[in-house]
Amino acid sequence: MYDVIIVGARISGSALAMVLADRGYRVLVVDRITFPSPTSSSTNLIHPPGVNWLRRWGILDRLNEHSIPEITHYSLQSGPARLVAPLPSVEGVGYALSPPRISLDQALADAAVAAGAELREGVSIQELLTENGVVTGVSGVSKTSGKMSEKATIVVGADGKNSRVAQLVDARKYRDQPVLSKSSWTYWEGLEQEPLVRTYRKNRRHPFSWPTHDGLSIVGVAWPTDTFPTGDPEQTDRSVIEAFTDVDPEFAERLRQAKRGDRWLTGSVPNFLRTSHGPGWALVGDAGATRDPITASGITHALLGADLLADAITDGLENRPMAEAMAGYTARRDRLIGDHYDYTRDYARVADHSPEERALIAAMSRSPRHGQAMIGLFATVVPPEQFYTRDNFRELFGYLGGAGEVPWTSRLVRWLIEGVPGRPAWASGTADRLIASKLGPMGELLLRSPVPGGSGRRPVSAPTA
Ligand SMILES: Cc1cc2nc3c(=O)[nH]c(=O)nc-3n(C[C@H](O)[C@H](O)[C@H](O)COP(=O)(O)OP(=O)(O)OC[C@H]3O[C@@H](n4cnc5c(N)ncnc54)[C@H](O)[C@@H]3O)c2cc1C
Repeated sequence: MYDVIIVGARISGSALAMVLADRGYRVLVVDRITFPSPTSSSTNLIHPPGVNWLRRWGILDRLNEHSIPEITHYSLQSGPARLVAPLPSVEGVGYALSPPRISLDQALADAAVAAGAELREGVSIQELLTENGVVTGVSGVSKTSGKMSEKATIVVGADGKNSRVAQLVDARKYRDQPVLSKSSWTYWEGLEQEPLVRTYRKNRRHPFSWPTHDGLSIVGVAWPTDTFPTGDPEQTDRSVIEAFTDVDPEFAERLRQAKRGDRWLTGSVPNFLRTSHGPGWALVGDAGATRDPITASGITHALLGADLLADAITDGLENRPMAEAMAGYTARRDRLIGDHYDYTRDYARVADHSPEERALIAAMSRSPRHGQAMIGLFATVVPPEQFYTRDNFRELFGYLGGAGEVPWTSRLVRWLIEGVPGRPAWASGTADRLIASKLGPMGELLLRSPVPGGSGRRPVSAPTA
């Protein structure tokens, strides 16, 4: 009998196993794969909060065999508007990392075992054991020893987006949307790079690139699913380089001087949240929340989920009935990741920015505080509800450019904020509504934020070390 059985031993499963085993619980973690196991379905950018968990848990020390540059800046270029800003820090970690998944997954599994968890590889879980409607264990097949079954106080599905555990407990999906974007990406050798994540948006294409490990770089482009170009590898080379030439000819030239180091990979996933706890079971990582990879937030949020679930399970093993301890877990996770999930879904439409949005990106490039907060938002450091506030955007309009760059609608908003004599509340309220109407789902956050002058949330300053 175990305290916890975890199905899936990559990011969320091994992280959870490590934390719980370290607290002294009997943990069994199983995976149908055997380590080391490559995963060709994911790039590997980890934002500062994720890097901070890996640092705290000693995982970074296990990746020393690789040279992994610290990525300190992210950029967003949309037409002529270009924002480059340093990442805000989380507990002194002001950088992202992009370690190879094969080594990261292995390091997490090794750390779980070192903490005292039992890892069984080559075990595929097929069914759940239940008693009176409560999940009490798992059964499956081991590649080496045939049929197996084990019991535990709680069973966790950390088994990815097609979670078998979620399927067996019939976990409900919500806020779901089908695949929105599809990307082609791979590793390049010999590409001259700054410590920068580059993202671009133009002509319904989203080129991206960043340095990863051992001199390699990720290079790719995301398209809306309906315009994703198919073709042989040479055609994909041309499509990708053409997309970069359209947005950044200088970087495209660097690409021409470098060499594609692997075959092209294609990635796309649907978007959903799932109810992530019930009698005797819980879900973590992609099993409970899967989103488009366009904001590269899956690993960071899988680590966040593992941290959160570890505390809920600990509470249930120590202080009160498990059902009571787990009661708020799904809602707590959604409060932490839900707004960023919506931001990601909106971004994954790969829609071109409107002239008003471009004017705001240009304004952010003139205001270091706003620029860093925007980059921090993308990187899951700054919560969207802290960024999309009336205060923050009214102030941002003070950084708008000249008439040639700014559409008349944005100039009208600036006049409503700054130009109406006496600055009456009706004028700034109208400005807020006009701003919100251009921000998609994030506009709702802005309208929910406190009216300046009243009590409530303050505009965001990006956290510092
Ligand atoms: C194209 C693409 C690019 C991405 N790029 C990034 C990025 O740059 N940065 C980022 O943060 N995220 C990225 N992601 C998302 C990221 O890959 C996932 O969020 C992350 O892998 C989730 O980790 P996990 O441990 O929850 O699940 P997974 O990594 O999917 O692991 C699940 C494990 O469960 C095991 N399993 C499944 N079923 C069973 C079973 N029945 N029995 C036993 N074992 C089972 C599997 O073998 C697997 O090892 C990307 C995703 C895609 C598709």
